[in-house]
Amino acid sequence: MRLFFMGKHGGSHPEENKDRTRNVGITVAVVPKELVFPVSMHIGKPAKPVVEVGDEVKIGTLLAEADGKISAPVHSSVSGKVIKIEKRQTQSGMADCIVIENDGKDTFIDSIKEQEEISDPKVILEKVVSAGIVGMGGASFPTAVKLDPPPGSTIDTLIVNGAECEPYSTSDYRVMLEHTDEIIKGIDVVRKLLPKLKIVYIAVEDNKQEAIRTLSDAVKDFTDITVKTLRTMYPQGSEKNLIKNLTGREVRPGGLPSEVGTLVMNISTVRAVYRAVKLGEPLYQRVISVSGSPVKEPRNLLVRIGTPVESLLHDCGGFKEDPAKILSGGPMMGRALADVSVPIVKAMTAITVLNAKEAEIGEESDCIMCSECINVCPVNLQPILISEAFKRGDVDKAKALGAMDCIECGNCSYICPSKIPLLENIREAKAAIKAQQQKEGA
Ligand code: SF4
Ligand code: SF4
Repeated sequence: MRLFFMGKHGGSHPEENKDRTRNVGITVAVVPKELVFPVSMHIGKPAKPVVEVGDEVKIGTLLAEADGKISAPVHSSVSGKVIKIEKRQTQSGMADCIVIENDGKDTFIDSIKEQEEISDPKVILEKVVSAGIVGMGGASFPTAVKLDPPPGSTIDTLIVNGAECEPYSTSDYRVMLEHTDEIIKGIDVVRKLLPKLKIVYIAVEDNKQEAIRTLSDAVKDFTDITVKTLRTMYPQGSEKNLIKNLTGREVRPGGLPSEVGTLVMNISTVRAVYRAVKLGEPLYQRVISVSGSPVKEPRNLLVRIGTPVESLLHDCGGFKEDPAKILSGGPMMGRALADVSVPIVKAMTAITVLNAKEAEIGEESDCIMCSECINVCPVNLQPILISEAFKRGDVDKAKALGAMDCIECGNCSYICPSKIPLLENIREAKAAIKAQQQKEGA
């Protein structure tokens, strides 16, 4: 099935498929009896467990501490008891996990309560570090690292990313409508960490008019916050695209937004920063859309981290037709789940279920050299060349062709008339490059 037509300058227009959940308000998901907490829900080193089997925990209890700067702690989202520490299936394969039996009492640690007003940037940053916040739009990069840019960089522009360009997903949209106030207060907290900040853009695609109206109304008294309406296009929400579109600044391949004085944060991440600093909350829950034609009652759910995917599918009434593919994320960037027992993690935005027709990919055939994958790549890569280099085992060539700059948007795979799994191959190439780099560093 062809899902979209091609954009002119990289990017595409996939069918949005957001109508099933766009107008469905956030409701609280059932909290299951057993929850599973991978010690790595972030980019960087896995966190180190600090609990043992048999320990009693509360909501907010530290389960695993960050291991170094590029890492993030993990906290319990329920009260109960640690019953296992073992390898479990996660969205990214088998990984070390802490398993908690929920006692159903929802007892909180004492420090989750309204906090005193804090103005010291160091204390604010410590709160963000200890809350274990990571990029909630899917990036999973530790937020505290972003908020503590390298010495010498001067951040003058903050882009709050509410583009949510991935089809099906409406979790950020609902957060923008239902928690507008906490997003604005989150910007205020972030502002305290960035003394040179001059302008804040809240970026929203033009298919979310109600969110644009609500946010514009909320910021009307702020001279330094502007809601920017973006043309609906995939992947409009990618970091480098947003920076280029809103500021005209270009981040060099392999470079960081901070090098061009810009910080990009997902809308739900900004809200989590507010809740960490003002309410003392570690990141223990998030909003997730569960959608797709086989789902009986698609919903936007407030979910405790560690909840198995199957529990959410049950919350949505199960299936009205056989599911052919269940994805963590949307159809463009999402990863197929081998198992619905995998737990919800901090950066998971959506669960998307496709039926057989929607999931049909077709048989792979030889490249016909149409260049369409090159035309749709938003970061100007040559996906077919990277894929071919990886396939013949030339990891160095894949790296030289810029594989690490791939933002994994999936445009190339979807456009390819020969059904070549370009994204899959490039993801594998990136993993091989990372492994090679670790080996060289060892
Ligand atoms: S190479 Fe990467 S960034 Fe370019 S279209 Fe493919 S998935 Fe997207
Ligand atoms: S889109 Fe597919 S067929 Fe066309 S050049 Fe790229 S890999 Fe080859």
